[in-house]
Amino acid sequence: MKQVKVKTIKREKMSFWERTYLLPIFQGMGITFRHFIRNLIGKGPNISVSYPDEKKTMPTGYRGKHRLTQRDDGTVKCVACMMCATVCPAHCIHIEAAEHDNPEIEKYPEKFEIDLLRCVYCGYCVEACPCDAIRMDSGIYTIFATKREDFIIDKEGLLNVKPQDPSTARPLQGMPPLPGSEAGSRDLPMADHA
Ligand code: SF4
Ligand code: SF4
Repeated sequence: MKQVKVKTIKREKMSFWERTYLLPIFQGMGITFRHFIRNLIGKGPNISVSYPDEKKTMPTGYRGKHRLTQRDDGTVKCVACMMCATVCPAHCIHIEAAEHDNPEIEKYPEKFEIDLLRCVYCGYCVEACPCDAIRMDSGIYTIFATKREDFIIDKEGLLNVKPQDPSTARPLQGMPPLPGSEAGSRDLPMADHA
């Protein structure tokens, strides 16, 4: 039978002061106090806002509430290809396809629902979409309701979500501009962070 070498490491005994953990506690409190003072005198990053009176502007690339985009004539861009629903790891997208009157478009979503309680905001649906029909550039992070069923957002609800104004979005270092800020997308007014 093969002998296994076991290396025993002697545990250093802690001194009385080490066992009180007073030094790390005061070090931690010192860091907190330093940030508090810097924010108080306006020298810090000031990351706290007086929510809900004040809303945070989310950075470029933030994955907020979903929205469906529209063509110039106002019809939904989605062609009900099911790519987003297939790739969704949370299985929270439900689409019912119908035939479009235009033979060049073929299909459109008669029903398009996202269960926002199940969604994990991974953004896979946006990446999988072949026609830029679904985006998460609304900057909306305040999603609330009192009933579970109210978290299921339907097609009309998704079409009514507006993109965050790219000019007001906080730029994130190294991030590309929001796709919504480029030509080819329908200009919509700024998001209402309700
Ligand atoms: S963000 Fe992720 S979890 Fe949410 S609907 Fe899209 S693919 Fe599904
Ligand atoms: S949103 Fe995009 S990926 Fe999803 S069904 Fe519509 S066209 Fe396909």
